[in-house]
Amino acid sequence: MLYCSNPSCFNPFNSDSHKFCISCGMQTLTPLFRNRFRVIRFLGEGGFSRTYEARDTDKMDEPCVIK
Ligand SMILES: [Zn+2]
Repeated sequence: MLYCSNPSCFNPFNSDSHKFCISCGMQTLTPLFRNRFRVIRFLGEGGFSRTYEARDTDKMDEPCVIK
């Protein structure tokens, strides 16, 4: 899994085979979400946000939720 580094990308998840983001076309894909979070799974979607369960690699892989 690769993540789009565009902070406003509505769907930053891309498979390893992609060279650019399928959602916004950004060419910077990284193995960690925003160079920090390792996303475990998609939790849900509501209103204007999506939530993901993740691990914060800056804090010894502390569990966190990304909105
Ligand atoms: Zn994107």
